[in-house]
Amino acid sequence: MKIKSDYANTPQWKELIVRSRLPEQLKCLDELAHNMWWVWNYEAQELWKSLDEKLFEEVKHNPVLLLERLSYDRKEAIVKDHAIMSRVKSVYKKFREYMDVEPDHSRPSVAYFCMEYGLSHVLKIYSGGLGMLAGDYLKEASDSNVDMCAVGFLYRYGYFIQSLNMDGQQIAKYEAQNFESLPIERENDADGNPIVVDVPYMNYQVHAYVWRVNVGRIKLYLLDTDNELNSEFDKPITHSLYGGDNENRLKQEILLGIGGMLTLKKLGIKKDVYHCNEGHAALCNLQRLCDYVKSGLNFNQAMELVRASSLYTVHTPVPAGHDYFDESLFGKYMGGYPSMLGITWDEFIGMGRQNPDDHSEQFCMSVFACNTCQEVNGVSKLHGWVSQKMFSPIWRGYYPEENHVGYVTNGVHFPTWTAPEWQKLYAKYFDKNFLNDQSNESIWHGIYDVPDEEIWKTRMILKKNLVDYIRKKFTETWLKNQGDPARVVSLLDRINPNALMIGFCRRFATYKRAHLLFTDIDRLAKIVNNPERPVQFIFSGKAHPADGAGQGLIKRVFEISQRPEFLGKIIFLEDYDMQLALRLVSGVDIWMNTPTRPLEASGTSGEKAEMNGVVNLSVLDGWWVEGYRKGAGWALPQERTYQNQGYQDRLDAAMIYSLLENDIAPLYYNRNKKGYSEGWIKTIKNSIATIAPHYTMKRQLDDYYSRFYTKQASLFKKLSANDNQLAKELAQWKETVAERWDSIHVVSKTDFVVSGVETGKKYSMQYVIDEQGLNDAVGLEFVSVKTDLNGEERIFNVREFKMVGHEGNLYTFELEFEPDVAGSFKGCVRMFPKNEMLAHRQAFCYVKWLD
Ligand SMILES: *Cc1c(COP(=O)(O)O)cnc(C)c1O
Repeated sequence: MKIKSDYANTPQWKELIVRSRLPEQLKCLDELAHNMWWVWNYEAQELWKSLDEKLFEEVKHNPVLLLERLSYDRKEAIVKDHAIMSRVKSVYKKFREYMDVEPDHSRPSVAYFCMEYGLSHVLKIYSGGLGMLAGDYLKEASDSNVDMCAVGFLYRYGYFIQSLNMDGQQIAKYEAQNFESLPIERENDADGNPIVVDVPYMNYQVHAYVWRVNVGRIKLYLLDTDNELNSEFDKPITHSLYGGDNENRLKQEILLGIGGMLTLKKLGIKKDVYHCNEGHAALCNLQRLCDYVKSGLNFNQAMELVRASSLYTVHTPVPAGHDYFDESLFGKYMGGYPSMLGITWDEFIGMGRQNPDDHSEQFCMSVFACNTCQEVNGVSKLHGWVSQKMFSPIWRGYYPEENHVGYVTNGVHFPTWTAPEWQKLYAKYFDKNFLNDQSNESIWHGIYDVPDEEIWKTRMILKKNLVDYIRKKFTETWLKNQGDPARVVSLLDRINPNALMIGFCRRFATYKRAHLLFTDIDRLAKIVNNPERPVQFIFSGKAHPADGAGQGLIKRVFEISQRPEFLGKIIFLEDYDMQLALRLVSGVDIWMNTPTRPLEASGTSGEKAEMNGVVNLSVLDGWWVEGYRKGAGWALPQERTYQNQGYQDRLDAAMIYSLLENDIAPLYYNRNKKGYSEGWIKTIKNSIATIAPHYTMKRQLDDYYSRFYTKQASLFKKLSANDNQLAKELAQWKETVAERWDSIHVVSKTDFVVSGVETGKKYSMQYVIDEQGLNDAVGLEFVSVKTDLNGEERIFNVREFKMVGHEGNLYTFELEFEPDVAGSFKGCVRMFPKNEMLAHRQAFCYVKWLD
């Protein structure tokens, strides 16, 4: 036999997970590490650090990895160290006390769906503001002890890690996450086997593992398709956040919505309200419809129940933020659903179209969400209005200002985003019940009792921390990426903790106008290099890998930062994430935001700044329209002056320069003998006292309950009682009204007065309507509209008729009114279906304008 040059088979590697054994006294740390509670409890973070500071840095502040890698000797030493052990005990005790509080069932329970969650930089399942908001929300739900659970994805690669090459070109690197060393746990069944959720896709199934993140008392379930049960085509569904093509996006949204609901079902979880945070999750309503239909209800009845109990929050007016799918692609995956629901394909896809019968329209997830959720909201007062307009075409017959789209202004989770230095200061001066009563402005007024020096000292410590951090963290990166070591060293030397420092850090989407500051380079150079009043700017943020223009902005900022006159004065910090964000929002003096109006739905980073004594300078857009108070920050006007964006940019830039030159820098540098500006501290105090209390996540959560959840849960309870009796009745009533709608008609009416109308005089109108056998099922109202200064028609007022009696089918409606404002109006009478079970008019959007 010829001897081969080599002969070996391939190994069948078995996955081995060797867990590091912790001594008995440290076992509790494993439990602590696997609950995100440590993210918002700085004592817990200090504890991790004290276990092994160097290792903690190495494992990038991931406590699970820290425990895994702690050496045997170190563990032995810790157990013998009284100081650390007493810290372990006290932190664990605090954790247990928190966890052991009885769940509060007095408020409705909620299931929350979102594509991303920003809980900690350790868990890379977020990209930006939407994720941050969702993560903060779960933390507050835990703190407020409400009954909530959430569904999302465990991404293998998550969002990218950003670096810049020597030219300032963004490089996106995707690092695979090793799930075993993350602060998560696999969800197993009673026998200890991993739970697998089978999600229907066309004619086969995708199988998802379920992982659980313990967010304090709240459970977040993450689906994961990157496993051996799936084909190569389906494994990538949960690979990356906002990556892949449109087909992958649809597959993701099927997994989130339908897979998410199936997961809850498998886990035996039922909630009162289902909250779609962004349209991505809207297919959860499709699964819920299917479930109701399968249980014996018809489509219309199912719809009443699903709608009543679901809420859709929209987060952006930017078109790229809304998902559209071609009919062919959508049909490929969803073709089986209409027959399950007992409706036609056209009826089905029509739920995702503004004009259901327009076959050229793509299926829009946001429209589907609007059509299947009773309530819809934007994320600031202004954005609520922008969303009313954006979605108005869905509800014909009503003006934008009449539809039900509401708002809850975003907030931020106080303990996550407030630096420990400030938390300690607040704890010292504020009422003991502060954390449970965060929205109470009067408590925050305690800031006025804090000596100016203490405020200044706190600010300076955090600023210095930031500068130290930049020097430590970026020296190596920059030496590697930016060539010329002399320049890098000189750049680092020039960063001056005593200079006025301004932060501009956020996603580099073009509407955020990061370039605005560079409109007049010479003027900017004078501002930053003013010898008495130097100013420096820190930029940071990622651009979506597919957004060439956004990456171009980063490049431009980088190039300018390399010019001699801006070296160390304008700095770009790579890889903006939660960790860097916390340092920045607490470290700089001013947080700047310059969005194109009105595209900043809310923005939350400026709210984080408020809690850290960092003052905002921003365009009046998003949250700042509500947040801004005179003497507590700076604002650029809300209204645009020019339609031409180029002119508007120049005007805004000029206003920023002028504010910096004439107001902000002089105030900041008006230092007293003790070395600080009293005027500046006053501004900080005003902003903490009057702005911060209104932008906590607690306030946001409470608003969701008072504006939506409570009302929806109560309607759902009514509709579903007694085997869904009222849902059935309501669906039946709507069907009858819909059938007869076209034949309901005016039998007689008084003449419509159009000329000679005067204020202060009484007028009356009368209509007799043949209701076609329906019993008092319609209402009438006189609608007057007026053209506003922008040339848009707006509702001036709406006066409802009184139904004064009927003979058989003929109902008489009367309206008496007295015009009190003169001018030219348009008026018309509108007929609408009337039923006290309807949450609002758009819940049954039939409208007939009468002659
Ligand atoms: C807060 C935060 C955001 C959102 O900030 P905006 O003001 O909405 O742009 C984005 N990314 C990170 C890392 C954050 O911490």
